[in-house]
Amino acid sequence: MELRWDPVLGEWVMVSSIREERPWHPDVSCPFCPGAEETGYGWDVLLLENKYPMLSLASPKPSGHWFYRVERAIGRCFILVETPQHDLDDLSDLDRDHILRVLEKITWLERKYVDVEWARYFMWFRNKGKEIGVSLTHPHSQIYILPFIPSKVERELANAREYYRENRVCLFCKILDVEEKDKTRIVYRNNSWTAFIPFYAHWPYEVHLYPRNHIQYMHMLSHSELIDLADALKKVLCGLKRIYSKPMPYMLILHQAPYRGDYGYYHLHIEIYGVYRGDGLLKYAAGMESGGGNFTYDGVPEDRALLLRRTIIERCR
Ligand code: ZN
Ligand code: ZN
Ligand code: FE
Repeated sequence: MELRWDPVLGEWVMVSSIREERPWHPDVSCPFCPGAEETGYGWDVLLLENKYPMLSLASPKPSGHWFYRVERAIGRCFILVETPQHDLDDLSDLDRDHILRVLEKITWLERKYVDVEWARYFMWFRNKGKEIGVSLTHPHSQIYILPFIPSKVERELANAREYYRENRVCLFCKILDVEEKDKTRIVYRNNSWTAFIPFYAHWPYEVHLYPRNHIQYMHMLSHSELIDLADALKKVLCGLKRIYSKPMPYMLILHQAPYRGDYGYYHLHIEIYGVYRGDGLLKYAAGMESGGGNFTYDGVPEDRALLLRRTIIERCR
């Protein structure tokens, strides 16, 4: 495994051949269930080392290339098994206190890597639905501890830095302010979090969760903010699950500030990309999106926000 630098786009690609041995919907027993080889018994949230990692502490020094830039794929890849219950469909099916324990485990791990020399970025993400390639259905999410800053986060940092330099205001705090004023795109809010489909959403049901306090890292969230995050995640994911006749496939990503450095202008948030544009209709990142980098959005975010907001009120008590 190694990191290969794309000199054209200026970003890293993680390359690993052990990934090819990954099981695809194995008929054999679930590796995340209690009593499996790596799991044991007596847990309700379990952190496992990914058996097919993209990054590893044991990653060898690459032999290099005469032209291209190659680096060691040093890092960690974890699986977070969110519940012992194999047959639960989604994170939102857990009760709030259980989701809180999932978040506490994430925060615990996040704090652990703050001062690790090679660690540059903590990325928690969750893929849901076979439509987007999820191989194991037992509820789980993943954590990558990366030796570089992901390129999407780099772009956010550059724009937030620039906005702060010009206006002396956090770009994300400003967006929160605007979304709170407009109201039409807000799908849920509680004491400390606001969830909305941004004005500039790319994916059909792209929901952003912002803490209203200006915070950079998971470990900076207070206990009550973590409880409120559990509540907001439960509500928003429940809404996405129930809006159509079939549960919506989605991706969920934590965007926090990189480790080390002065990122006071950045504002932690969670992004969820719900990929149905209608009942059972998948939105693909196709030619324009994947090749050009710009999304086409059929419809308007305000209409979808209204539908999602109503679904949460009526069907996610
Ligand atoms: Zn299982
Ligand atoms: Zn802010
Ligand atoms: Fe973001």
